[in-house]
Amino acid sequence: MHYVPRILVTGGAGFIGSFLCERLLETGAEVLCVDNFFTGRRTNVAHLLDNPKFEVMRHDVTFPLFVEVDQIYNLACPASPIHYQFDPVQTTKTSVHGAINMLGLAKRTRARILQASTSEVYGDPVIHPQTEDYWGNVNPIGPRSCYDEGKRCAETLFFDYHRQHKVDIKVARIFNTYGPRMHPNDGRVVSNFIVQALKGEDITLYGDGEQTRSFCYVSDLVTGLVSLMETGPDFVGPVNIGNPGEFTIRQLAERVIDLTGSKSKLVHRPLPQDDPKQRQPDITIARDKLGWEPTVRLDEGLKPTIAYFEKEILAMP
Ligand code: NAD
Ligand code: UDP
Ligand code: UDP
Repeated sequence: MHYVPRILVTGGAGFIGSFLCERLLETGAEVLCVDNFFTGRRTNVAHLLDNPKFEVMRHDVTFPLFVEVDQIYNLACPASPIHYQFDPVQTTKTSVHGAINMLGLAKRTRARILQASTSEVYGDPVIHPQTEDYWGNVNPIGPRSCYDEGKRCAETLFFDYHRQHKVDIKVARIFNTYGPRMHPNDGRVVSNFIVQALKGEDITLYGDGEQTRSFCYVSDLVTGLVSLMETGPDFVGPVNIGNPGEFTIRQLAERVIDLTGSKSKLVHRPLPQDDPKQRQPDITIARDKLGWEPTVRLDEGLKPTIAYFEKEILAMP
């Protein structure tokens, strides 16, 4: 009989996690989605519940979890600044205790485990574009530190469990990702701008809007994560997964206005503390080791994202 892999996705009811669960089910795998629903939503995975190979478990990864699995994708962690700063202590606990528990689980079950790390490990980078050998420029005591340092410590734990306990690890450094199922109130730039444009409200550029980000469409990102999981055991990463197309925040606002046909005006708001000035992935390693590169251009990815937010806004009370 064909062996069906059992895959655990923590944070599976979130934005990226829900697309990952969907993709893994398409390959025929059994998927266990574990989520405490802090920022994730049941509606993100509601369409998967009819599939007998899919299961959802409410659980907080800061507590131990005893299940039998072959692979673990560890995505549990709020990702947008307003969400991860809402309860910063819990954010660090989720990254650090969550990593310890999932690594303990991987060690016991001999499962392969992939960590959703982040471009934030580079902080406000002085090397541009960012290569994986850059150690970063992170403030350890600022308002973003709970997220950035939590994720850095999780990487440390992954590499120590690998060296010390021979756990089969993969570490992905994810750059800004967007698409349908982003939380409309998560305060991230793509969701903010689209919702503001659709409602005809002012578009809020923080600072002068000249800071840059590189935006990856969620389907490309998911392909990158699955390709990394499928690499041979000798390749552990870390590997940047993102779209190298770099845009200023002002350019993003202009694209959103064009594509929505909105009459919204651009207004300036103060730049948040420690906001990185530029960010662009060097994806040479992803191309070489994963045979992966993104395929969806910003304009192409914004269209389905705008269509999703149109429906969300109509459904709002
Ligand atoms: P998201 O907030 O939509 O998803 C995170 C999920 O984790 C949510 O479903 C949330 O309820 C769950 N969660 C949070 N704390 C938990 C806990 N203690 N126990 C169990 N579940 C918990 O965010 P996302 O954008 O889908 O991000 C997914 C992962 O990718 C995160 O680890 C994030 O750090 C990483 N990442 C995302 C981006 C991006 O641009 N979206 C960039 C870099 C890294
Ligand atoms: N753990 C878990 N599920 C398992 C195995 C371990 O949640 O299937 C947790 C365990 O409770 C511990 C953590 O993972 O807190 C780290 O496990 P490890 O075996 O490395 O450490 P130890 O149990 O020796 O402290
Ligand atoms: N940003 C902005 N207006 C908004 C939301 C965000 O100008 O309404 C800026 C923010 O200051 C940052 C960039 O857009 O420079 C990306 O912000 P986001 O919170 O999406 O992600 P991150 O800073 O974590 O990359």
